[in-house]
Amino acid sequence: MDFDLSQEQLMIQKMIRDFAEQEVAPGADERDRTGEFPRDIFNKLAELGLMGLPFPEEYGGGEGDTVSFAIVVEELSRVCGSTGITYSAHISLGGAPINMFGTDEQKRQYLTPVCTGEYLGAFGLTEPNAGSDAGGTQTTAVLDGNEWVINGSKIFITNASFAKNMALTAVTDKSKGTSGISAFIVPTDAPGFTVLANYQKMGLHASNTTELIIDNVRIPKENLLGKEGNGFKQFLATLDGGRIGIAAMAVGIAQGAYEKALQYARERKQFGQSLSSFQAIQFKLADMAMHIELARNLTYKAAWLKDQGRKFGKEAAMAKLYASEMCMRTCDQAVQIHGGYGYMKEYQVERFLRDAKLLEIGEGTSEVQRLVIARSIGC
Ligand SMILES: Cc1cc2nc3c(=O)[nH]c(=O)nc-3n(C[C@H](O)[C@H](O)[C@H](O)COP(=O)(O)OP(=O)(O)OC[C@H]3O[C@@H](n4cnc5c(N)ncnc54)[C@H](O)[C@@H]3O)c2cc1C
Repeated sequence: MDFDLSQEQLMIQKMIRDFAEQEVAPGADERDRTGEFPRDIFNKLAELGLMGLPFPEEYGGGEGDTVSFAIVVEELSRVCGSTGITYSAHISLGGAPINMFGTDEQKRQYLTPVCTGEYLGAFGLTEPNAGSDAGGTQTTAVLDGNEWVINGSKIFITNASFAKNMALTAVTDKSKGTSGISAFIVPTDAPGFTVLANYQKMGLHASNTTELIIDNVRIPKENLLGKEGNGFKQFLATLDGGRIGIAAMAVGIAQGAYEKALQYARERKQFGQSLSSFQAIQFKLADMAMHIELARNLTYKAAWLKDQGRKFGKEAAMAKLYASEMCMRTCDQAVQIHGGYGYMKEYQVERFLRDAKLLEIGEGTSEVQRLVIARSIGC
């Protein structure tokens, strides 16, 4: 058994940590206030060759492994959750389904610009009446000659304002239930396709969360992604990988909050001593450090299994569930250690707490992760 990162993984970790501290951290509070999307950061990540990190070189990718992807998400999220989720969704929801299910021609056309960072990747699954129950998709696609005609709507979709093309799911044969759902690649500037970015969110203010209105949108027949009727299976596979990204975000946000709490506890004096000399505070920090380490191990293990080509769905669900709930507790305790100052924006930990909550909801809620795990242990 080897718990060491490889030389390449260590190199990526150092590069992205430096980048996050120098380029991402400085504007994070301001972006949280204004909600401005940091397009320039993603242009720079493209220059570093990270926008297509785990995808094949022939499509402009970096041929990196999933552990490296998790490290990049973790380090970005350690300073800015919004940047972390944008990157994670770009790779694991935007690029991954095209890489897994696209034809060579589709990959050339749609994966390459995602890898080069020309535009961001996005994936439209959730609808007003189909969230946890994504099999309840109501968006439809009907073949009319050589074109699919798509009608419906999607909600809470990450990155769509910055995606030129994106994958989404629609029902092609209602009589077949979940085997009648298919996936399509749709240009976001097609007539009838509207992207709205009007949500007022609790956190992750600088990430782009959108609503899609799809009104008689016509796309060529060949924009079907994978086989007709396989859309449900495809998005389940996509979400398995995506959960590693959310788990890595949770590890990163928790690490960032913990580091701030530790530093504050060392500096702040009450009763003539630093907070870190009180056992009550020491125990909080010790628990944080231990739980972050556990979550990181689970996350890297799920990523490693995926890299070995082995089954990783159960481990990814466990990592996502444990890491996201751990992250909420850690951020809550980081605010507590800061006392009243923790409630103020200046000390940043309240931003970490607000950003963390999404991790228990997105890509399958905690309740859904427990269902996935229960199923995989034979319940
Ligand atoms: C910021 C943000 C970004 C997102 N990005 C994307 C994206 O890029 N693409 C995309 O497709 N979606 C995206 N989503 C959607 C997200 O995946 C869904 O919000 C999530 O899956 C939950 O669905 P829902 O909101 O409809 O909640 P619901 O399914 O209505 O759930 C409400 C509550 O009921 C519980 N519940 C539901 N069913 C069960 C059950 N069977 N047993 C027990 N409890 C249950 C849930 O756990 C939850 O607590 C995003 C959401 C947010 C907030």
